[in-house]
Parts: sequence; structure tokens; C-alpha cells
Amino acid sequence: MKQYRKALTFSYDDGVTQDIRLVELFNKYGMKCTFNLNTGIQSETSYWYMQDVRIHRMNQSDIGNLYQGHEIATHGLTHENPSDRDEAWLNEEYGKDIENIKRIYGVTPVGMAYAYGAYDDTVCDWLTAHGIKYGRNVWETHSFALPEDPIRLRPTCHHNDEELFPLLRKFLEEEPEEDEVWLFYVWGHSYEFDTCRNWARIEEFVERAAGHEDVMYGTNEECLRYFGVI
Ligand SMILES: [Zn+2]
Repeated sequence: MKQYRKALTFSYDDGVTQDIRLVELFNKYGMKCTFNLNTGIQSETSYWYMQDVRIHRMNQSDIGNLYQGHEIATHGLTHENPSDRDEAWLNEEYGKDIENIKRIYGVTPVGMAYAYGAYDDTVCDWLTAHGIKYGRNVWETHSFALPEDPIRLRPTCHHNDEELFPLLRKFLEEEPEEDEVWLFYVWGHSYEFDTCRNWARIEEFVERAAGHEDVMYGTNEECLRYFGVI
């Protein structure tokens, strides 16, 4: 069996309508992504405006098999900031979200993305005690090093980061040290491709990133398990 020493993964939040176009793009190029959902507010009535673009979540009933082949992870039942909360609140916000994901999608989530990138030790301990093995924040590393503390996982970069393409070049053209493996972890929100009008950016990225036989394309869970992080 082939042993990969490089892996590329993506993490996108909020279950918005632009995920449809993003999934199509990822599927076209063989990319795997983790989608972080808020099952308590998965409805078009959950909306906001950015740069004059009306952004809304998908109706739960419209999602169907959209995320098939990708990973679904928790982002909290209602997208509240989880800092300074008690056990009862965490049971509601995360316990119910985890239960909903199991019921709706038939999978037990092992991952999470922190709404607003916010968390504290109480949150991390609660999640770990309830089967969540990794939690992504928003503090980029600009590095491919494996996360040392996966419940406080830092991504390599956001898709709008100016280092995105230089990092990709390094990832594809250079090799990890003998005792290393590389994980390139990109995160964002698919609605940002509408608000920033830069769908071409992600298409160019995945087109260049695709089809390299020494790169594993996996969901967050698949890559973290493959490299023994979780
Ligand atoms: Zn979010």
C-alpha cells in the first residue's frame, strides 16, 4: 500500500447555499472537505448580509446527499460563542448538535470547528469527553506541521491568505524532512467566494493541487487518522 507523506484537506463552515457550488468544484477535482454545520439553525431563515450579498443557510431538507463523500462535523447547534459557558449550555449546544448529526446523516462526528474561533479549556474538555477528537480554530500556522494538540487545531491558512499559492508551490515542489509528514489544511466559508468575488481563486487552487500521486486528498478526519494524530 502506498504510504503518503503529504495530505491536503479543507474545512468549510456554516452550511450555506454556496456550499453547493464548492462541493461541485471539490468533487470535480477529487478534493475532500469537512463541512461544519449548525443543525439547530440549518434553514434559509438564518441569514445575514455581507458586502451587499445576502447569505443564508440551506434548508435541512434541501441538503440531501450534498455532502456525500465528505465529512460532517459540529459547529455548534446555534453558532453561539462557547466561551465562559456551563455544562448545561455545552450539553445543549454541542450535545444536541452531535445527536442531530447522528440522526440526520447517520454518522458520529469526531470533529468540530469553533464558531468565531472561540473556545476555552472547559469547552475543549467537554468536547474531548464526548467523542470529539479535533477542533479547528482560526489561527493560521503557515506551516504543514501536524497539530500537536488536535482539540486546538490550527489551520495552515485561510483561502484568502496571501501565502496560499506560495504555500501550495512549496507543498507540491518540496519534500518533508525524513522524520516529518505534511498536512496542508485550508479553511474558510464558501460564501466568501461570493462576497469577495473570487471563485476563480479556489478553482485555480484545486486545479493546481489536484492529481499529484504523492498527495493524499482526504477529509480532516481521514488525514488526521492516517497520520495517527487522532
Ligand atoms: Zn461559523
